Amino acid sequence: MLTTRPRGTEDIIAPEADVWQAVEELARTLSHRYGYEEIRTPLFEHTELYARSVGETSDIVSKEMYTFTDRGGRSLTLRPEGTAGVVRAFLENRLYARPLPVKLYYLGPMFRFARPQAGRLRQFHQFGVELLGAGEAAADAEVISLAMEFYRHLGLEELTLRLNSVGCPACRPAYREVLLAYLEPRQHSLCADCLARYARNPLRVFDCKEEGCRQVLAEAPLVTAYLCPECSAHLAAVRDALRLLAIPYEDDPYLVRGLDYYTKTAFEVIVPGIGAQSAIGGGGRYDGLVEAFGGPHTPAVGFATGLERVLLALGVRGKTLAPPAGRKVFVAAADAAGAAAGVELLARLRRAGFTADRDYLGRSLKAQMKHADRWGATITVILGEAELGRGTVTVRHMQSGEQEAVPFAQVVEALKEHLAR
Ligand SMILES: [Zn+2]
Ligand SMILES: [Zn+2]
Repeated sequence: MLTTRPRGTEDIIAPEADVWQAVEELARTLSHRYGYEEIRTPLFEHTELYARSVGETSDIVSKEMYTFTDRGGRSLTLRPEGTAGVVRAFLENRLYARPLPVKLYYLGPMFRFARPQAGRLRQFHQFGVELLGAGEAAADAEVISLAMEFYRHLGLEELTLRLNSVGCPACRPAYREVLLAYLEPRQHSLCADCLARYARNPLRVFDCKEEGCRQVLAEAPLVTAYLCPECSAHLAAVRDALRLLAIPYEDDPYLVRGLDYYTKTAFEVIVPGIGAQSAIGGGGRYDGLVEAFGGPHTPAVGFATGLERVLLALGVRGKTLAPPAGRKVFVAAADAAGAAAGVELLARLRRAGFTADRDYLGRSLKAQMKHADRWGATITVILGEAELGRGTVTVRHMQSGEQEAVPFAQVVEALKEHLAR
């Protein structure tokens, strides 16, 4: 146990950690470009928050949450997704009083107790954006375009954007009745999960991956046929906006996001080659959630993507994302005087922005050179008493093996010049 991490978790170690940093950097840069600001909410919230927002009948709430009682007797839950916490923070900090829309992004770990599989962990990471306070279809299109830009910058190709509308409180109840009437005589073909929940929320059956349930749904009435005029017009406007942005999409009338708070637009991004559950991200509109929490009417739309899924889809290509590790300088000492001067030089190099390091194991000069090579140094500066007496050091270019004498006082300037080439 002491040397085994919990199932469904991962240690992220360089060079993979460098790829993570590059992906996170891209998420931040793009978000800022689109006018989103970061929000950092707690990793745990009151359990009730998720029960109320994600929905009691959802797989997440009924089976997958890490819920615990703290020493004060409160029921808390490690966040299984990002939206609920953002909406809670939006209300608690009265962000609705700010100029609308409020545009927020988040980046960080989420927790779900599910069977671990490729790209799906119990502690996983999401990048997500929420645009609160705007009901226009152009807002949906903006969120989608940010998502697609994120994937495009990463070099993910052959993506499919699937688009649907799940209706609104004006039209969904009628559809719900029609769907219930359809499912009722077919109950015997539903899986145990769907049987238990279809009466409370028949739309959830669309989330089910069981073959029997999928067959039942193949002939089911679809929500798009029951949209009210407002929902229909909104869906048409989202399609128009996507065309303006030259973002290809596919209508998918079976795309019914399981979360209770979704209204109107639902979308999913599919990428080939990462297994059966090939969605790497998705989102949609949740116009009723803020109000359901007791806040002012606030239409909103959001998107989230699982970073493990993204990295899995990137595969080997992800390795090329990390910036080249240039400007690495190793400071090697031939003797005690060299080591003393090296302390000063190391500080100067780091202050000048170089990635610089030295030996801390009392290695011989030969062993230091070997270590510098394995560390990936571009240049090694060798300091020794005799040379220092003449006011110089040796600069060794690791790749070519060429060496030159450089005045000690000018090493930083000389290296800047060398590495700029
Ligand atoms: Zn509607
Ligand atoms: Zn089922």
